[in-house]
Amino acid sequence: MKSSGRKHVEQPDRLIETAMRHVSEAVVITTTDLDLPGPKIVYVNEGFCRMTGYTAEEVIGKTPRIFQGPRTDRAELDRLRYHLSRGEPFDDGEVTNYRKDGSEYVLNWHIVPLRDEAGEITHWMAIQQDMTEPRRAQKALQESEARYRTVVGNAPVVLFALDGEGVFTLSEGKGLRALGLKPGEVVGRSIFEVYRDVPEILEHVRRALGGEEISATVQVGPLAFEGFYGPLRDEDGGVLGVIGVAADVTERQRAQERLHHQALHDPLTDLPNRTLFMDRLEHALSLATRHLRLVAVLFVDLDDFKVVNDSLGHEAGDTLLIAVAERLRSRLRPEATVARLGGDEFAIMIENIMVVSDASRVAQRIIEGLREPFIVEGRQISISPSIGIVAAASSRDRPKDLLRKADIAMYEAKAKGKARYEVFDPTMNAQALERLEVENDLRRAIGRGELRVHYQPKVLVSTGEIVGTEALVRWEHPERGLLSPAEFIPIAEETDLIVRIGRWVLAEACRQTREWQELYPSDPPLVVCVNVSGRQLLHPELVDDVGRVLQETGLEPGSLYLEITEGSLIEDELSTLATFRELKRLGVKLILDDFGTGYSSLSYLKRLPADFLKIDRSFVEGLGKDPKDEGIVSAVINLARVLGMEEIAEGVETAEQAAHLRKLGCRFAQGYLFSKPLPAEATGMLLATSAP
Ligand code: C2E
Ligand code: MG
Ligand code: MG
Repeated sequence: MKSSGRKHVEQPDRLIETAMRHVSEAVVITTTDLDLPGPKIVYVNEGFCRMTGYTAEEVIGKTPRIFQGPRTDRAELDRLRYHLSRGEPFDDGEVTNYRKDGSEYVLNWHIVPLRDEAGEITHWMAIQQDMTEPRRAQKALQESEARYRTVVGNAPVVLFALDGEGVFTLSEGKGLRALGLKPGEVVGRSIFEVYRDVPEILEHVRRALGGEEISATVQVGPLAFEGFYGPLRDEDGGVLGVIGVAADVTERQRAQERLHHQALHDPLTDLPNRTLFMDRLEHALSLATRHLRLVAVLFVDLDDFKVVNDSLGHEAGDTLLIAVAERLRSRLRPEATVARLGGDEFAIMIENIMVVSDASRVAQRIIEGLREPFIVEGRQISISPSIGIVAAASSRDRPKDLLRKADIAMYEAKAKGKARYEVFDPTMNAQALERLEVENDLRRAIGRGELRVHYQPKVLVSTGEIVGTEALVRWEHPERGLLSPAEFIPIAEETDLIVRIGRWVLAEACRQTREWQELYPSDPPLVVCVNVSGRQLLHPELVDDVGRVLQETGLEPGSLYLEITEGSLIEDELSTLATFRELKRLGVKLILDDFGTGYSSLSYLKRLPADFLKIDRSFVEGLGKDPKDEGIVSAVINLARVLGMEEIAEGVETAEQAAHLRKLGCRFAQGYLFSKPLPAEATGMLLATSAP
């Protein structure tokens, strides 16, 4: 063994220079003495002094043992001896040493033998890496992990932490079960290996290691995990690793998908709904533009579906709709979109056709397909559709307009006798278009609260005293202003809208009247006359509706008069009679409105349990001008007496007309002379001023 000589120190000097250029760590060069007290320090660099607090003079000539403090690790010395004797470079791992001031620091040794020209080992160079900072960081990591671990506890989530290399240092939480993992199972493995099949996760981890915070949902096989990935930082803000929390949201996602499905499908038939249909139509139109093909829309409405619904009940109606939906589906190519728009209306979209007649053929097939009767609740039911067709070639046609055109064509098919199809042609009347628009608006008007009730006082002709009011509906149209019933009631009467409007007016009028009765008591109490159209009269729920409204509003049945236009009576004698009797049984009173304009036979009138005849305005108008009208009014009054009814005159505009009515003995009247129909508030004021 050679002791340190000049020649040998030279070589370390050169090496040191090189080393110092590359190594900012502490460097110690010692002799190779293996006997106690061991090797002697011959050189230390600046890094070493920085790290330990010693100056070079203080350590040169001493053994490195001075840094070991109280530590007397025999194994360490043995290891050192072993390697030194073999002349190999080696890493001695991590040891804790002591600075000059006695404080601890952690370091990593890397020991390299230095040889002379002959290859003899003359010195050892120890490169020491200060690990104090990284270790402290690691401890911080462990501590913050522990914090998260307690937070997460048993939550149905996965909590994980990765070190700077992506190796799991923590993997906890109940959510692991869904992944088939046990807590801690992947610790020590790299996430880049464990989730190599889920590149999304790896990307998030990479970004988190880069300092980003990421919230994202990833699909892991059949499972969905909503996760947060964030950098774990030490006190100075350096990234130590990644902390992640992920919750198993598979169930929630499924629920959302279900909701999404529900939002776009009709609950009864599970067919796409209007929204989805319009969406697909829009998409198809944009494709059609590119592919020079046509898109056809078929509007399918079942003929007389209401009859089935009303006579067999809603459940049977629903069953039939489901069956129709299935049959439509089964008779069409899978590429066709069959949607239910609502009620008995379906829409079909066919893409990629060359000519309109392709769509007509489909319509024909549908008509034939529905011809075979359906079995509903053990009964055979036949139903036919009326179909309107429109075709479009580009996205210049808006889905909404197309559907409306198909709808118009469908109406045309109905008008031409049902169970057939019609292709839209632009000359199809503008009237139909407007009618349709009103119908659509009206449907919405009810829900949006655009309807109003105005009240026209009904007075005693003798005194002018207000004994009641007639409720007259108005529509406060957002664009067109206040609309009179003539502008929308006839349209409502063509559909079941009138039933809904009627129900609303009835409830509102009864509620209002009950309120007035309490505010302005009179004997007998104020009455209200509510108009009921012929279609409502045929509706099976009318009697129940009336009963329920009376109950809900607390209005005495005797305070409610229902006005039925004479003209609407002839349609169905017997069922109308039955409805009249049931209404009478409820205790409400009945008025035959516009009397004299219909065709009631005297024998029918005799059987009708009505309470009032309302003399039509057209006869009242002629009073004092046309002696015939005077005769008619007189005759109607007499007829009322004979039938055990009372009479009321409507449309009284002049004092002269009123005088005539008085002379003829007519007791009640309405008309502009007394008051125009007024909004509820104004009517209330009128009632307040005329109250006894
Ligand atoms: P109606 O039941 O015969 O109502 C009388 C109509 O004559 C009302 O028209 C009223 O404003 C008007 N009128 C009243 N006094 C005079 C007058 O002195 N001179 C003139 N020229 N007209 C007078 P309105 O309010 O436009 O109602 C028209 C029709 O609409 C009503 O005729 C009724 O059949 C129907 N209607 C109104 N509200 C409802 C409702 O809630 N349901 C149903 N089914 N029909 C209603
Ligand atoms: Mg009326
Ligand atoms: Mg009338």
